[in-house]
Amino acid sequence: MQPETKAIRIQSERSLYSEHSVPLYLTSGFVFENSEEMRASFTEEIDRNVYSRYSNPNCSEFVSKMIALEGAEDGLSFASGMSAIFSTFAALLNAGDHVISCRSLFGSTHNLFQKYFPKWGIETTYFNVEEVSEIERLIQPSTKILYVETPTNPSVQILDLELLGNFAKQHNLVFIVDNCFATPIIQKPIDFGADLVIHSATKLIDGQGRVLGGITVGSQELIKEIQLFARHSGPSLSAFNAWLLSKSLETLSVRVEKHCSNALEIAKALEHHSAIAKVNYPFLPSFSGYEIAKQQMRLGGNIIAFELLGGLEAGRTFLDSIQLCSLSANLGDTRTIVTHPASTTHSKLTEEGRLEVGITDGLIRISVGLEHVDDLKEDLFQALDKIQINV
Ligand SMILES: *Cc1c(COP(=O)(O)O)cnc(C)c1O
Repeated sequence: MQPETKAIRIQSERSLYSEHSVPLYLTSGFVFENSEEMRASFTEEIDRNVYSRYSNPNCSEFVSKMIALEGAEDGLSFASGMSAIFSTFAALLNAGDHVISCRSLFGSTHNLFQKYFPKWGIETTYFNVEEVSEIERLIQPSTKILYVETPTNPSVQILDLELLGNFAKQHNLVFIVDNCFATPIIQKPIDFGADLVIHSATKLIDGQGRVLGGITVGSQELIKEIQLFARHSGPSLSAFNAWLLSKSLETLSVRVEKHCSNALEIAKALEHHSAIAKVNYPFLPSFSGYEIAKQQMRLGGNIIAFELLGGLEAGRTFLDSIQLCSLSANLGDTRTIVTHPASTTHSKLTEEGRLEVGITDGLIRISVGLEHVDDLKEDLFQALDKIQINV
């Protein structure tokens, strides 16, 4: 079966009522026939649901679809993308272990690496996107994990998955990829040697800005370790959110195709505007990551990052002139969202601090939605034209 079909047809067993759509299993616990069944369930001699912190039919269905889409052996769902990331690291690392990561990284992931992991004796060394061919020198005897996002959030940079996969294999590292911006419809990191793939399901997987969710899929051996940690620490996805996310996967491929065709058309149009210095979009031939993106991605994704010539002021003017698109912290919604990291999410950092994580003062990120592309272009261009007047 093709991925589109799997995302629709994988379904938990029907109940006695023969429903066509999947029921919502809102239950904290599950009942047993007798003491023997209960005993065997707790010792895991029989594989069944016991308690919704461990597993729930809605969560299992969501995970089964994601495993099929990513081509993974096993997986586990979480309450958010961050709980998936935190639990994965917490389960696999020991004090004294070392992580290598690209510096262009989701803000909260960076915060975990910088502020919390050192408390538990875990150090992280970063490399810039341009330094990817020199990461060999970052290896230490204690290096255990290689972690990247591609495309990266928020600056939309591309890392070579094949190169990184080979490097991880050669040095016996666990290679983990945050595949949030691409989704398995566009890119399958496991094909390039990733051991684990993480998603914030809050983004394109839900796709409608309703719920938080996260998932880690990959090798059975590693997922087993993560499951044991999660069982006792409780970052579980709610059955209700899993039910919505599993339904959302039925339309993921059609939504992603439309998100991407809208984004490509907008990226091409933005490139020629006089207020813009540079546009980062994976499938734009002028973009530095284009060649690699073409090798590992089927489509360019729905996120565009561009650089305004007028810096911080131009960024504020642009945001204040937007009429149709939303100013919001989310992404991957049916509704187009624009953000200006330097004046919002990263405003507490100094300009140098922002540059260190790849955020220039004129950087704008657009999460292109599913509105008619002509309406989106009209809104973005009228806002860009305001900048020229003010500067
Ligand atoms: C949003 C996001 C996360 C965190 O996910 P939440 O569901 O908000 O916890 C992690 N990585 C990337 C790339 C993201 O965009």
